[in-house]
Amino acid sequence: MSAAPSPFASPPHGLTDRLTRWARGLSGKAEEGEEETPVERRSRASTAADREITRRRKLYDDIGAFLFAHDLDLTSMNFSVALDYLTGTNIGIEKAVKAVMMERGQVTNSWVETVVAEQRADEITPEALVAMLDKVEENLTLFTGLMHESRSSAKDYGAALQEHAKDLASGGDAETVLGRLVSLTRSMVEKTRQVETQLRDNQKQTQALRSGLENARQAAEHDFLTGLPNRRAFEGALREELSLARAQGEPLAIGFCDIDHFKIINDTHGHDTGDRVLKFVAGLLTKISNDRCHVARHGGEEFVMLFRGKTASEACALVDKVREDLAGRSLVNRANGEKMEQVTFSAGVADVLEYEHPRAALRAADRALYLAKEHGRNRVYVAADTD
Ligand code: GH3
Ligand code: MG
Ligand code: MG
Repeated sequence: MSAAPSPFASPPHGLTDRLTRWARGLSGKAEEGEEETPVERRSRASTAADREITRRRKLYDDIGAFLFAHDLDLTSMNFSVALDYLTGTNIGIEKAVKAVMMERGQVTNSWVETVVAEQRADEITPEALVAMLDKVEENLTLFTGLMHESRSSAKDYGAALQEHAKDLASGGDAETVLGRLVSLTRSMVEKTRQVETQLRDNQKQTQALRSGLENARQAAEHDFLTGLPNRRAFEGALREELSLARAQGEPLAIGFCDIDHFKIINDTHGHDTGDRVLKFVAGLLTKISNDRCHVARHGGEEFVMLFRGKTASEACALVDKVREDLAGRSLVNRANGEKMEQVTFSAGVADVLEYEHPRAALRAADRALYLAKEHGRNRVYVAADTD
């Protein structure tokens, strides 16, 4: 096979030439007898700077085009997703963007929020927590070491002082002893300073760890979309409220709430509008929450509620007010300004203390919810039996 002349064959100052110069640049020196002139050097530097400017300008343009094409708001979150996707610096984001573009051809504001939340949740893996705990342990060991070191240098210093005092008492040369004392004190001051610096670093690290752990705890107990506590946090609240209610002889009610025909809302108005409806309902339910009433997202379009100090019928009346409020509103689809059909929810409520285990009360509330759905939705039922 005869090789056709390559269309990229390099003229004397073409690609090969440039590669040779580049390789020379890498080795850090010009070939013997071919020293780079200052003009050449300046021109090489300015070409590199120009290239960098061009690269950056193109990136700005690409990010702008991406945000514009997907009608994304100018938020730092959208900007950073666009940057991650276009530069490929975050494989998770890159893959997710590619997948959603293949599937829907479009990236939306709320999709970005969800994906970023998932990425953040991914960051708080058990491995990440183990790494944080390792760091805590390491800090603690360092701290103990420093304390030990500091205590033993103080002890050594004390012993040396006593030794010199003895020397003085037994008629030793005052000047020599004083000289030694001065240098001993200096080294003790220096040692203390070092320990203080290390302790300060240690404290800074501990503070960073504390805020990392706090973020992890927040993320582990909250639902990103609605900002409500999640099921896991709710279970903790249930345990606490159950023991408080038992100890104080107060009633405790539990409720399940599920948006009606939510699938139709999604299908008619799109997932983003569905998300906004979810947030809106979460907001209405949050209004009744306080330190004795907990509302959490149980998953999907379901919410779970706990009322300490309220019987099931009292809790039912409270939830019914929210139901009435929601049903009486005419929501508008923000995406196109169109009026939406009535949005409603159904709920079921049960008295926790009437059941042997709170799980049985939850099941009873769920059965009541099921009946509310069966009987036409947009209603709140109290669990009728305790079996
Ligand atoms: P029902 O009145 O019987 O409860 O009907 P439904 O359509 O509300 O119930 P179904 O279980 O059939 O559908 C629930 C839908 O909720 C399906 C799912 O795609 C949607 N969904 C779950 N989580 C989310 C979410 O975070 N955002 C959005 N937009 N939709 C969600
Ligand atoms: Mg449901
Ligand atoms: Mg539903």
